[in-house]
Amino acid sequence: MQHVFGPVPSRRLGYSLGVDIIPPKHCSYDCVYCQIGKTTHVETTRKSFYDPGSIIEQVMEKVSQPDMIDVITFSGSGEPTLNSDLGFMIREIKWKTSIPVAVITNGSLLCDKGVRDDLKEADMVLPSLDAVSQTVFERINRPHHSLDVQAVIEGLRAFRAEFDRQIWLEIMLIKNINDDPEELKKMAEVVSGLDMDRIQLNTVTRPPS
Ligand code: SF4
Repeated sequence: MQHVFGPVPSRRLGYSLGVDIIPPKHCSYDCVYCQIGKTTHVETTRKSFYDPGSIIEQVMEKVSQPDMIDVITFSGSGEPTLNSDLGFMIREIKWKTSIPVAVITNGSLLCDKGVRDDLKEADMVLPSLDAVSQTVFERINRPHHSLDVQAVIEGLRAFRAEFDRQIWLEIMLIKNINDDPEELKKMAEVVSGLDMDRIQLNTVTRPPS
């Protein structure tokens, strides 16, 4: 099975070699704007989905080719932090190459110390946060029933306190879903207290779920 794609030019990261470590479509969210499609497995339990050794081999094979690669990016067909081998894979890849490693995550599992420890192996982490009130969170991200937006925010805060490299927070804004002035005001207050290195606003440009 092919886990590595690219390198492709990415708006945020330059030439990015994507590493997909989650089968479609396992995620802790079922966002209304998801480009991958509807989440068939809405879950929060981490597990080993694939043989991590074969994924690392595929990455190293690509890295040995002459293509320009600015960053190796874990993302893919669902939420990458659901993969319990994430920390091991990042560590191995960083040991074998000097190319920076990034992880794109929805940030929902950052309240789990094991997830934060895995992500600490990366050079940069790109979490998202689209809501700060539970009602809007449920409307836009349609999360697993156990997830509470305050815990997600606390997870981001805890990770910031522990991780001294780059964290770029992405916020997806959707008309009539999370752009209510009250929610935006609260979002600005919360986000300004999170001490992220960058805050990137986005809106839907490709066909959503
Ligand atoms: S978190 Fe990402 S993969 Fe999961 S449903 Fe939302 S957009 Fe799709």
